[in-house]
Amino acid sequence: MHTTAQAEISSFEIVRHYFHLAADRLGIPDDLRTVLLSAYREVQVQLPIKLSDGRVHTFTGYRVQHNGARGPFKGGIRYHPTVDLDEFRALAALMTWKTAIVGVPFGGAKGGVNCDPSELSAQELEKLTRAFTQRIDKVLGPTRDIPAPDVNTNAQVMAWMMDEYGKGHGYTPGIVTGKPIALEGSYGRESATARGLVYLFREAAQAVNLVPQEATVAIQGYGNVGSWVGRLMQQLGARVVAVADASGAIRAERGLDAEALAAHVRAGGSVAEFVADGVEPVSGEEFLATRCDVFVPAALGGMIHASNAHLLDCRMVVEGANSPTTPQADELLSEKGIFVVPDVMANAGGVVVSYFEWVQNLQHFRWDEREVNDKLGTIMRRAYREVAARAKEADGNSLRVAAYEIGIERVVEAARLRGNF
Ligand code: GLU
Repeated sequence: MHTTAQAEISSFEIVRHYFHLAADRLGIPDDLRTVLLSAYREVQVQLPIKLSDGRVHTFTGYRVQHNGARGPFKGGIRYHPTVDLDEFRALAALMTWKTAIVGVPFGGAKGGVNCDPSELSAQELEKLTRAFTQRIDKVLGPTRDIPAPDVNTNAQVMAWMMDEYGKGHGYTPGIVTGKPIALEGSYGRESATARGLVYLFREAAQAVNLVPQEATVAIQGYGNVGSWVGRLMQQLGARVVAVADASGAIRAERGLDAEALAAHVRAGGSVAEFVADGVEPVSGEEFLATRCDVFVPAALGGMIHASNAHLLDCRMVVEGANSPTTPQADELLSEKGIFVVPDVMANAGGVVVSYFEWVQNLQHFRWDEREVNDKLGTIMRRAYREVAARAKEADGNSLRVAAYEIGIERVVEAARLRGNF
């Protein structure tokens, strides 16, 4: 397999593997594992869309609701040409564990459309989003299932979803989170995933005797999460020394301007095209092998796998993406002594502020950004303390298995109390 390509193992297998590691430790019996691994509901819809050139193309949309024992289903909407039902199953399950680990009252879901948004005009994207919302309307609702942005979707897509849902149900801002500020979106939501990640990085840095302000960072993916991680790390005083996206990679030993790179990407540029003093283009392998303190995968799943994990030359990996590290790679990283802060906690800041947005929407009341960020910090630090303590108890240092253990335990407790099994 090519070192810079995705792994052949699917997100579904990755998430199942980690689930079983934790379930073994918790002594969860097989019958219960079957319940916890299967989805509550899986919706698949056909979306025939008339494109601007007159052709009709039929897209496929999905919404997988994994487990709702702890609250309404919650999770993002992803638009990508490689997504399928299995991937949404895995990502929905990850949301179930994630919301339980940080202790927000939601279950887990994920969905989206198999499409390449870079080939669609804004009008086509709007049409597609409205058709998708109509088709899954029956399984949504502010007390039922609340979508949010994910890969290739944003506040505008959420605004269309809210508008379309409102046609049948009346004004309901709490139907989606990650909305524009002008439509009862929350201050701080756009940067929340990255901000939560940086809070956790600061906690984890102590574990490896790293001074956060002096850290060097490499970021894989420069979309919402990656670009905000870059900017917030820079604000902290850390140096962004390498960045990659699907177009290629760049390196800057003395650090690059994360803010300028974000502006360049926002204007439609690719990472590889970014030109600045001291910034040089590098290959995918060279990017992965960049010596740095922190490596942040913030692209798609399965990017760190058995054929490339050995290249990483960092002290910690903080997972901004969902399911970026395969089990074999996870073991390799641990053998190399690289400390891993796993996705289910590292990128949970997004759904935590989604929870704040939902709470504000139910009350039609708005908090200021400082309040949002402070409350986010409190929740992230608490989650870190709880997971780190559990990892220590288990004599291992895998935060991932400890995090899964806590998540599974909380979901099982809620389901038992409800009398679900
Ligand atoms: N898509 C984000 C995630 O994977 C956010 C989900 C949400 O806010 O509901 O965590």
